[in-house]
Amino acid sequence: MIATDAPLLEMRGIEKSFPGVRALDGIDLNLRAGEVLALLGENGAGKSTLIKVLGGAYRPDAGEIRIDGIDPQIHSPTSSSRAGVAVIYQEFNLIPALTVRENIFLGQEKSTAWFIHSRDEHRRARELFDRLDISIDLQTPCRELSIAQQQVVEIAKALSLNARIIVMDEPSATLTSNEVERLFRVVKELTSQGVGIIYISHRLEEIFEIADRVCVLRDGRHVDTQRVADIDRARLIEMMVGRKLESEFPERDSSPGKQRLVIEHLSRGQKVKDVSFSVRAGEVLAITGLVGAGRSEMVRLIFGADRRESGSIELDGKTLDIRSPRDAIRAGICLLTEDRKTQGLVLRHSVRDNFGLPNLTRLSRFGWIRGGTEREEFAGYVKSLKIKIPNHQQLAGNLSGGNQQKIVLAKWLARHCEVLIFDEPTRGIDVGAKYEIYLLLNRLAAQGKAIIMISSELPEVLGMADRILVMHEGRIIGEINDVASATQEQIMQLAIG
Ligand code: ADP
Ligand code: MG
Repeated sequence: MIATDAPLLEMRGIEKSFPGVRALDGIDLNLRAGEVLALLGENGAGKSTLIKVLGGAYRPDAGEIRIDGIDPQIHSPTSSSRAGVAVIYQEFNLIPALTVRENIFLGQEKSTAWFIHSRDEHRRARELFDRLDISIDLQTPCRELSIAQQQVVEIAKALSLNARIIVMDEPSATLTSNEVERLFRVVKELTSQGVGIIYISHRLEEIFEIADRVCVLRDGRHVDTQRVADIDRARLIEMMVGRKLESEFPERDSSPGKQRLVIEHLSRGQKVKDVSFSVRAGEVLAITGLVGAGRSEMVRLIFGADRRESGSIELDGKTLDIRSPRDAIRAGICLLTEDRKTQGLVLRHSVRDNFGLPNLTRLSRFGWIRGGTEREEFAGYVKSLKIKIPNHQQLAGNLSGGNQQKIVLAKWLARHCEVLIFDEPTRGIDVGAKYEIYLLLNRLAAQGKAIIMISSELPEVLGMADRILVMHEGRIIGEINDVASATQEQIMQLAIG
């Protein structure tokens, strides 16, 4: 459907402050029926806060909202949904034990009739799924669904409430590329039916594929809204970070030194098969491959998180007996996992407590914690990593993804590791924060550390690595030494096997 010019949704002068932070400083946004509006900005720019205002989770300090030119009176999530808005947050609201059908109509009983008419529900759910062109059995409990399927159920739920404005906050972050394609088909289907979509994502390629316009926020302010057809990637990045990035990857003088980490014949079941490689001092070794190629499983063996069935691990000429993460950490090997939410941070704790958690042994003497030392050390990292927090007592769960990732980094850096293994270090974080993490990787390499970076982002692999290993079905099936003249196609060819 061709988007009409009259806005479906208008948000004007929206302001919202939290203690110590002006999260939204007069934001304007408009959305037309049948269009996809990408909402972009670095971590902490205010995207989620703006969405929560629209979704009725936060009351704005100032500003107006209009839907079809009328104030929809959004005071709560319920009134927002009654006004035709559906927000699909990253954490889904589905109840695992209930079936797909039950989840879709959950909370709508009252509006249907005196009693819940399940046959009628079944028919309506089928219609919704037909409309979205998807086939999921309505009687399946939601706990058995993949993330992608749960997302579709959330979308169906939104439609069952007659949502005309659907907001998706980083819907693709946890999807495989096939699932993203399917999601895009659903999005196109929705827009063709006149639904307006606000789409938040850090994957710029996606924006160019799916969005009609982009609205960019920076530090709580509206920078600009542009038609996607009128801008390119470089311009978009410039709008987001507020300056021209000469390159997305910082320059580095790389001259790897002596061999440090030597892995031989590492195996575990069908996941990791006879993997051997080495990493030099000052070297950034990238390991890439398709999701499921065994990369994470392999480094977990080095870190002692899983038991290896065979193989040896040597650091600086000394054979290590690693049976647990504790052994690995003691030997100077650190693993920064891709899932910072479950493995890296305690979201209910303050950022400074999170920093202190793994460091207790080092910072405590005579059995008590030396609070002063830890505070100073943490303050140092906040500064050098440019971590944006109003104060050290801020709960980790309230921070944006990029800042959470930096806290995890700070936590490990304070341990003085010799081998640093990063598993997807920049997943889900914005270009500006990515750049700072790249600078940090380079700095660590310059100090002579051995760095392993698992990444699925081929531009990142090509932009950062001294050497690239490609894994497929648990084995290393390719090595690229001349990274400067390598191409994405070449890596993909290897990765498919
Ligand atoms: P984005 O979604 O663009 O990454 P957010 O809207 O999450 O940005 O955050 C905007 C700013 O508001 C950040 O500085 C963040 O730390 C702060 N913030 C967000 N939610 C809260 C909260 N509940 N309490 C305190 N500060 C918050
Ligand atoms: Mg956010």
